[in-house]
Amino acid sequence: MKISYFLGMQNPETHYFRVRIVLEECPEEILLLTMPAWTPGSYVIRDFARNVRSLSASSNGSVLESSKKDKSTWKITTGRKSPITVEYEVYADEDVPQTSHLDFSHALINGTSVFLYPEGYKEQTLELTLEIPPEWKVSSALEKISDHRFRATNYDILVDSPIEVGKHEVLSFRVEGKDHEIAIHGKFMEDREKLVRDMTRIVEAYQKTMGQLPYRKYLFIIHLQNEGNGYGGLEHSYSTVINYDANLIADKEGYREFLGVVAHEFFHLWNVKRIRPAELVQLNYREETYTSSLWFSEGITEYYANLTLLRSGILTEEEFLKKIAESIRMYELIPGRKYYSAAEASFDAWIKLYKYSPNNINSYVSYYLKGMLIGMILSRRIVSATRGNRSLDDLMRLMMEKYRKDGRGFTGKDIIQNLREVTGTDMSETFQQLVRSRDEIDFRSELSSVGLSLEQVPADSKKVSTGIILKKPGEKFVIESLIEGTPAYSAGLNSGDEIVAVSGTRFTEAFTRKPLNRRIVTDNVLPDANGKVVYHVFRKGELMPFAVDAAYDPFFTYSLKMSEEAADNVKVMRNRLLYG
Ligand SMILES: [Zn+2]
Repeated sequence: MKISYFLGMQNPETHYFRVRIVLEECPEEILLLTMPAWTPGSYVIRDFARNVRSLSASSNGSVLESSKKDKSTWKITTGRKSPITVEYEVYADEDVPQTSHLDFSHALINGTSVFLYPEGYKEQTLELTLEIPPEWKVSSALEKISDHRFRATNYDILVDSPIEVGKHEVLSFRVEGKDHEIAIHGKFMEDREKLVRDMTRIVEAYQKTMGQLPYRKYLFIIHLQNEGNGYGGLEHSYSTVINYDANLIADKEGYREFLGVVAHEFFHLWNVKRIRPAELVQLNYREETYTSSLWFSEGITEYYANLTLLRSGILTEEEFLKKIAESIRMYELIPGRKYYSAAEASFDAWIKLYKYSPNNINSYVSYYLKGMLIGMILSRRIVSATRGNRSLDDLMRLMMEKYRKDGRGFTGKDIIQNLREVTGTDMSETFQQLVRSRDEIDFRSELSSVGLSLEQVPADSKKVSTGIILKKPGEKFVIESLIEGTPAYSAGLNSGDEIVAVSGTRFTEAFTRKPLNRRIVTDNVLPDANGKVVYHVFRKGELMPFAVDAAYDPFFTYSLKMSEEAADNVKVMRNRLLYG
């Protein structure tokens, strides 16, 4: 069966794509066409079929009967005619890297949310023709036949190759003879040469870590927005889409955070796209695909993002260690860590990480955060077991070599086996403890064994926090969540309460702080003579007072430093840990 897709965007301001699929020599009496329910890399059911309208089918001008089989699938009675033409429209107005978007200024096409696939023919080679406004251009990692025509070896590759269409700017650079393109949509007011230089350094650092760049060409699609969905990214085998805040990228800290996202998404081309959890090898687009390995695919990736900013000189050692120290502190502040191992947290991604609840902090821990810390601790265990001869880098290279060759995915058991090959020792107990158990990790002693000293630093403020995490929609201060066991939690404050006053004074920005990471704002208040803090809040329109004990200040921080007195052999291990 020959399959051709045509994608039109004649009226971009309506947000409707027009899709036409032509199937030649279709042998099926009943043809089933399915729209994915989720997109790989983003573990939540999105039911993309909800954006489809006006589906019809025909053959040489005569209408064929079509109806829905289930929420995502259409049934076409073909009468064994040929060719079969299926046409429909897709509404695309979600401006995030995980779905598709079309407006007057550009289009982002993520195939899972636009293209139906014929059941049983996902492995078929196919062609895509874009019908686009004359002044727009195309950037995609898809194999090009001509300017607007592309070929994909199968459906997985089609939908793993996002397409940017519009008037975007294109920058490029080469590393090791490989082409890299940066397609930027939105206002980028900063230094282009610096951006290219920094991204080159990131790619070079990874090339050194992993030994080679397993592609001919790689594309970064970057959307800069002034407001909206802030930042995020989605990984693909030969490209990535990153949304970032145009204002944030203009400041030094925000720019480095952006480079952190770049380093994260880029490493996925190895970790998750080529080193794949076994469950994600045969993709099932119809329903949830459970895996216990997202701590590895996401957490280790986040660890490498940080490590690579260090190795490429974008972060200093001090800055890198500070990030790790903050992550450890953040992790220890989350009561939910007691209820989830890293493997369990991965498995429940679909209903926890991707289903935000203000109570998640008390009932769940992110496999990004825990996985990142496991990355560092696992590497330290490898380093110690091999007296500084090996590190996590060796595990990643080994897994890349193995799974790239045979196309297999990995399981937890495989990781244990690979650890044995890298270290020559049985590390199943380490794996059990770090990944499968909910046990606390003794970061201080783990890190001290490689010459890194973790110390508690008291908060430099007389003020206290009562355990409230705030959000600020507009001018209001609203409780986002409460950390279980803190005074505010025990006093009966609730998420959603709008704080208007503290101890008789209007609540303002002055009573907040961003202790661990700039996105978290907490209360920062002075207790009265009785050691109480009185909050006035609106709850469902009613003014209510709460007297809260002010005996809690979780905002001591950690400092993580290189211990100078470390013995030479310990310094060797530390060096291996940080620089491979
Ligand atoms: Zn990721």
